[in-house]
Amino acid sequence: MGSEYGARCRKCGKKFIVQDGGGFTFVQVRCDKCGHGRFIDFRDMGELHNRYIKGLSGSYSIATAQHDKHVQENYAGEPLTEEEYHKLIEGFAGRHSCGGHFRLDAPVRCIDCGSTDIEADEESRYGCCYD
Ligand SMILES: [Zn+2]
Ligand SMILES: [Zn+2]
Repeated sequence: MGSEYGARCRKCGKKFIVQDGGGFTFVQVRCDKCGHGRFIDFRDMGELHNRYIKGLSGSYSIATAQHDKHVQENYAGEPLTEEEYHKLIEGFAGRHSCGGHFRLDAPVRCIDCGSTDIEADEESRYGCCYD
């Protein structure tokens, strides 16, 4: 699944939580202008995700293996390559209200000043016990 970590902006010092990565049942896209994150459920993508699964040689993840196999054996649509899939996800995600585009590889940005110059904040890391 995706993870969450504390981050700190090197520019303005703002601390915030970054949610990173997709999961078994969703992907994350980020606005390339302001860094706003959005999660897209595979179910909302419908055909798109099925076509991607169809194009995979194995399953997408262990958790979805059964479902993936079913899709690969029964889905009659055209398979997608990873590259096509990513392009279509971004097309599906569309634009953020700020005018930016949602992208899979957009960088994490400071929620205050929009800088991409951020670092992981050790203090607010999960779990404790850093000495
Ligand atoms: Zn935005
Ligand atoms: Zn900042």
